[in-house]
Amino acid sequence: MTQPNGPTPRPGILDIAPYVGGEHQGHIRLASNEGALGPSPRAMEAYQAAAGTLHRYPDGGSAALRGAIAKRFNLDADRIVCGAGSDELISLLIRSYAGPGDEVLYSQHGFLMYPIGAKSVGATPVVAPEDGLTASVDSLLAHVTPRTRLVFLANPNNPTGTYLPASEVARLHAGLPANTILVIDAAYAEYMNHEDYTAGEELVEQFPNVVMTRTFSKIFALGSLRIGWAFAPAGIADVLNRVRGPFNVSTAAHVAGVAALEDVDFLERSRSHNATWREWFAAQVQALGLTVHPSVTNFMLIDFKGQKPGKDDAEAARQFLKAHGILVRQMPAYGLPSCLRVTIGTEAEMRTVVDTLKAFLAA
Ligand SMILES: *Cc1c(COP(=O)(O)O)cnc(C)c1O
Repeated sequence: MTQPNGPTPRPGILDIAPYVGGEHQGHIRLASNEGALGPSPRAMEAYQAAAGTLHRYPDGGSAALRGAIAKRFNLDADRIVCGAGSDELISLLIRSYAGPGDEVLYSQHGFLMYPIGAKSVGATPVVAPEDGLTASVDSLLAHVTPRTRLVFLANPNNPTGTYLPASEVARLHAGLPANTILVIDAAYAEYMNHEDYTAGEELVEQFPNVVMTRTFSKIFALGSLRIGWAFAPAGIADVLNRVRGPFNVSTAAHVAGVAALEDVDFLERSRSHNATWREWFAAQVQALGLTVHPSVTNFMLIDFKGQKPGKDDAEAARQFLKAHGILVRQMPAYGLPSCLRVTIGTEAEMRTVVDTLKAFLAA
């Protein structure tokens, strides 16, 4: 709402529906895809140990964290740029490469930060329809125009939980003009063990117009610290370093991020916990007669369509869960109003969700 006679923001800004994060007043919080096991104990220790240096500015180049990421993922540290969450890097990419009259392309049920970022610079978000809740390379390519500056692909995608194999991502890139940037948002890459999947590093290595973004908010469970990173060609890394805040990642984030990367056992436990309880949860939800869409990530979409009247209402189900202290995510903003997105939590949490869904369907 603008105030009468108040200053007017640039065109596009007031078209933005503000991003609504997952709710967080409840005992069981499964609305934001935060790692089920909480942060690594080593990350927590490192965070606490940094308390005595809070008066110091952080290292503006995030050198230690970039070094640890480079070592862990076998990448060139000079082409890694850290950000206050990958959200910051997504916004900076859009701000640096798109403006009024330009288009930012993404797929139908893609992450909402892409259209928000596009509108915030006065660019036009363009949506390519998906095929069975999965991004379609043909559809994306059919929507590329001479004005397309960036193409965003979340792989795997939030909220659908589906992914494209490396060959399809390469085909998408091959179909783009040289001056269009492909941004591969691999926020959930660490959950993947599929042979045909890559997070996109190899495309960044080969081409000057591909960027991969990653985050510490999901499997590393450090969402509160806001740590994301991009692996980019030298030219794009240089641009990001010019436009980012000079101290955009805090010391607490640096040390906790490094410790989290070193805690390989914790990561393994998180991955295996997720695989076990995702499979269990899917089977239980299906046994209740609900549709659950297959997912390669740490969340699942439950579809209430086709249930008997009253039980086919995802919003009613969400309110019922909420009344029982369970927070899950509503999906109208993603064009999936009959679905709820449920993050895979602890065993006890998942058992409670199943019991509560059962009670909802019986009530
Ligand atoms: C959670 C998420 C992000 C943002 O993560 P931050 O690093 O916390 O900003 C980016 N992309 C997708 C697809 C996500 O689900």
